[in-house]
Amino acid sequence: MKERNWGTAKRKKAKTPLEAFHLHYLCVTDLSAQVWCEQEMVYHREQPGQRLPEKKVVLNTGKSIHLARELQDHDLVKVRTTSREDKWAIKLLNLLQTIADLQEGRCARECPVFGVLDDVFLVGIVDQLNYTAKGELQLNELKTRERAYLPVPAQKRKDRFQVFLYKYLFDAMVQGSLTQDNFIHHLHLKPKQPLGPEIQEHAQKIGFTVCCFQDLLELMVLNLTHSDIPAIDRLQIEYVHQQTDTLLGTEVITYDHDELMAMSHYFLTYWKGQRDPKGVDIEDTWKCCHCAFVDTCDWRLQTARSLVKKSSETKM
Ligand code: SF4
Repeated sequence: MKERNWGTAKRKKAKTPLEAFHLHYLCVTDLSAQVWCEQEMVYHREQPGQRLPEKKVVLNTGKSIHLARELQDHDLVKVRTTSREDKWAIKLLNLLQTIADLQEGRCARECPVFGVLDDVFLVGIVDQLNYTAKGELQLNELKTRERAYLPVPAQKRKDRFQVFLYKYLFDAMVQGSLTQDNFIHHLHLKPKQPLGPEIQEHAQKIGFTVCCFQDLLELMVLNLTHSDIPAIDRLQIEYVHQQTDTLLGTEVITYDHDELMAMSHYFLTYWKGQRDPKGVDIEDTWKCCHCAFVDTCDWRLQTARSLVKKSSETKM
């Protein structure tokens, strides 16, 4: 296989970026970040602390608003974990809680979604699922904004992709596509691993008796298969101004399966080592002004060089 440029010399030894970054799974937000600028997403993976100071403030304020919404419905419970299986057990318990809430017709917040696409395990957290007055199952994604106006189309495109992918994963889960083997095979988790005492206690409190990780996997598959939760009917994104917590606008999105698949397949080819990362197109170079890597970005440098070359060729 041809050696590709994943970023640093150290990474050149790995076969794919998934292996280079030691990842067993990707988050939905990893893929949606690729919609904005794939190269930027890669730089953030390589240099996690590097953010423009104003972006750090925006992120922290956004997290606080999300947390405040979550606390409207339930308290947060701290549970101590002692193994990787314990950490995944918490996500599975949150999924079981989501299934129970939706079965009872309640609103569910911070709902985990899992699934496999092109042989890559994907994980996401949906902000909110609830039934509308018409009885449709609605996904509501909250986006907080530093500026008091709706985002530009490029930002909306990223948000649209994110909710599309959430719907795809959620629908596949409730239609019975998620298997125990998906977790064991992709995440390398041990099914017979005993769960820590705090996990077992927490599970008991929400109505499940479990001893080892496999007990939870079985419960998850059983609950998903026997629930009569429908696929998501309605996708909505709420844009809220951070400083004032006021609603800037709500967008209702029409799901486009073909668009989602085409974009996801393309993004995953990067992770599977089939191509190099790509920066922004020439008409989107305005995005570079909001990027922490603007001064060191190889993509930007190469694009500038090829433009100079082209212009000198036309002059000849
Ligand atoms: S400088 Fe531009 S092309 Fe480079 S990573 Fe940042 S946004 Fe992407």
